Amino acid sequence: MLKTYKFRIYPNKKQEIKLLETLNLCRFTYNKQLELKINKYKENKVNLTQFDLNNNLIILKEENKELKQIHSQTLQDINKRISLAFNGFYRRLNKREQVGFPRFKSKYRYDSITYPQSGFKLENQLYISKIGQINIIKHREIEGKVKTLTIKKTSTNKWFACFSVEQESKSHSNLTNEETIGIDLGINHFYADSNGNLVDNPKYLRKSELKLKKLQRKHSKKLKGSNNRNKSRLKLANLHELISNQRNDFLHKQSRQLVNNYNTIVVERLQISNMTKNHYLAKSINDASWNKFLQLLSYKVEETGGKLVEIDPRNTSQLCICGNKVEKSLATRVHRCNNCGIEMDRDLMSALIIKEKGINDFSIITVGTTGIQACQRTSIEVQ
Ligand SMILES: [Zn+2]
Repeated sequence: MLKTYKFRIYPNKKQEIKLLETLNLCRFTYNKQLELKINKYKENKVNLTQFDLNNNLIILKEENKELKQIHSQTLQDINKRISLAFNGFYRRLNKREQVGFPRFKSKYRYDSITYPQSGFKLENQLYISKIGQINIIKHREIEGKVKTLTIKKTSTNKWFACFSVEQESKSHSNLTNEETIGIDLGINHFYADSNGNLVDNPKYLRKSELKLKKLQRKHSKKLKGSNNRNKSRLKLANLHELISNQRNDFLHKQSRQLVNNYNTIVVERLQISNMTKNHYLAKSINDASWNKFLQLLSYKVEETGGKLVEIDPRNTSQLCICGNKVEKSLATRVHRCNNCGIEMDRDLMSALIIKEKGINDFSIITVGTTGIQACQRTSIEVQ
């Protein structure tokens, strides 16, 4: 299991300049290599592999001597990123999803430098090859073997060190099936559970999201390239960061509470609607939250030796616990069954059905974490 530990780092002025230079050169390399890959394909239908791109680095370094300032594995990691971008592109293409071709990166879209295996050392300070000793706030101990380091700059100009760590997961052998809960993730509530609880997004989060909408509207009216637009970009980035922190905090607390109280958590397989196609802000925020929530559940159950069960989402909202079919449109909020007479919030009923499906083992898609993690390129951040 791969986990990520994220620590704030405080480069001094000189180091920050070097980091920014490195970032710029990495972005330059990324765009150059991407251009080469695209051109080779256009010209003679040759699909350059990651290995080919690695070989091309020698030529690129000859033409651009300043690239020699950069750790060689860091440059190679850029080729890996390009390959991953293309893999993702083809995967979505095969699934017939709407898909954008891998893009050239602007200054704002290239924000991290990776050191696979070597080029760094973590003690009281963080040593990075060709940058120096950087102050770091290590707010917790790292458990496991560090695989890679990624240095990240946020859009609010903060720097972070992210250590990717290999950890062994605990075995599932002492699992009991007594404590099972069904979770229905929804638009009206963050989730409903099979014990009759409705959990909403916290008020402060909704407030921030409203503020974001307003700010985005304002930002879009600012003249491109103007000073005012740059200022509002930073404002927007700060608010995005705040919301993301607030949301992560909420998701961590909710998932922790579930994992501590239940052995088996049953959820629906998420059908993340195509986010690029979806301009409806609230919906895409939800999609992102749910996805993250399931990731968090998945790594937390793995730690405690619990189970996360994903079931087929078909019909969960149209069935009654008595087995009767109760068809409801999206607008119908209350479940009313003619057969058994039960009347309750539709999401609470869905949660009961989800639990039922999980217990009866029918329509289970995955047990454990593989299904969720397989489609995640990045690993999970520890908090
Ligand atoms: Zn019924």
